[in-house]
Amino acid sequence: MSMDVDVQQPRYYWQALDWDALTRAYPPPGRFEASTGRMSSDEMRALQNDRFLARVADAWKLPFYRNRWAAAGLEPGDVRGLDDIEKIPPFTSDDLKDAIDRAPPFGDHQPSSPEFFADTHVRILTSGGTTGLPRVTLFDAVALEVQAIQSARAFWVQGLRPSDVIQITYTNSLANAGWCTFNGAFHWVGATPMTAGSGVVTSSERQLAYARAWGTTAWFTRAEYLARLAEVAGDTGFDLHQLKTRQIHSHIGPDADGSRRRALEEAWNAPVYDNYGTHEIGEIAFECREKSGMHLSEDTVYIEIADIATGAILPHGETGNLIATSLYRSVPPIIRFNMRDLLALHDREECPCGLHTHKLSNFRGRSDEMVKLRGTNVYPLACMEAVSRDPRTNGEYICVVSNVGEGLSKREHFVVRVERKSAGVDAEALRTDMEAALHRDLGVRVDVEIADPGALAVYTGLGTQNKAKRLLDLRK
Ligand SMILES: [Zn+2]
Repeated sequence: MSMDVDVQQPRYYWQALDWDALTRAYPPPGRFEASTGRMSSDEMRALQNDRFLARVADAWKLPFYRNRWAAAGLEPGDVRGLDDIEKIPPFTSDDLKDAIDRAPPFGDHQPSSPEFFADTHVRILTSGGTTGLPRVTLFDAVALEVQAIQSARAFWVQGLRPSDVIQITYTNSLANAGWCTFNGAFHWVGATPMTAGSGVVTSSERQLAYARAWGTTAWFTRAEYLARLAEVAGDTGFDLHQLKTRQIHSHIGPDADGSRRRALEEAWNAPVYDNYGTHEIGEIAFECREKSGMHLSEDTVYIEIADIATGAILPHGETGNLIATSLYRSVPPIIRFNMRDLLALHDREECPCGLHTHKLSNFRGRSDEMVKLRGTNVYPLACMEAVSRDPRTNGEYICVVSNVGEGLSKREHFVVRVERKSAGVDAEALRTDMEAALHRDLGVRVDVEIADPGALAVYTGLGTQNKAKRLLDLRK
């Protein structure tokens, strides 16, 4: 960014976009439900096709895509529409890490010339990164505002209105979730955001006190943290039902029998809605009040579901890796990003809520956290239901996988460490019942160890991050 600073003029954000064109292309709530949200299948496919071709043209300009696609035998012009999408090789976050290592600091997958920074409103946000620098993604005004509109569509359908106060328990720092939520609620619903941050920024006791004092009516919070807040309320004699909570926007995670949601809704006395999104593609799918699958914001993203082992695209209804193609962002283009998140895509249908979209299943786990145990695929997130169903636990657990033995007798040892609710819970009885429940749910026998409340937080990161870690891999 070594432009001559003295010759530059200020750039105003209100001029960063053609706002009328933006809202015609990506209708915000109030307009979405009557337009893009209920397009026919043919109209939607045509719209997606046009946007896909524009994004493919953007991608050809960047070495990351140009080199990968040329290596796969593609030339510009070979991809003439969505019917050709499977010719394009998918990529994963590992490829983005390589791109950043190859062309630091921003990688060769996104525009980053000095002229680009001087001419464009750009934000630096990050995702992931357990060693070294986190993975950086640049956002221009289109990327920021379309992601905000995606979130706003979800909020609106779930009942958020301008008169609501929405408490956001994500920290507004380098990660995108807090900003995306703030922008959605503030720019495109007109609700009042309260950016309390995570439990590290604002303690759980204070979160509850602020909610009562300032009249929080809506929350944007991960399910794990909702459970944690309910626990703190119980411990401190705070009655959650005295709050004015009208709706909760969350990421529930695996919950096939619905018990996790029911427990949270009872604790909070309010509906809890599931959503799905990621840093790069935004909050692309959301439940409506029917709570029967998540509506896709199909004008912003094209979704494929791929077999974990072969990469073959699966028919609707089958669970596999979600591969996302962003239809709105050029900074950076995202074409066939294998998220390694496990979900299923369902047929397009008219929902009783009036929207006409494909729906996504709930989130079922991460394929890169899969552990192969005696021939069975085990996902750490698949333990969540059994753990949260048992009232003697507080819902917290972590799977620890390690190698034991040497040579031919070397094998993987998988143990699920579960926190009991209090020291008064009979650990031995809980362990036996937990092993039986997990055997039933996972289809393979695993060992269980019972830990005291809070003992696992150092591993799961709960309390310091909104996203709890469920696998500790000690096999290296
Ligand atoms: Zn619906």
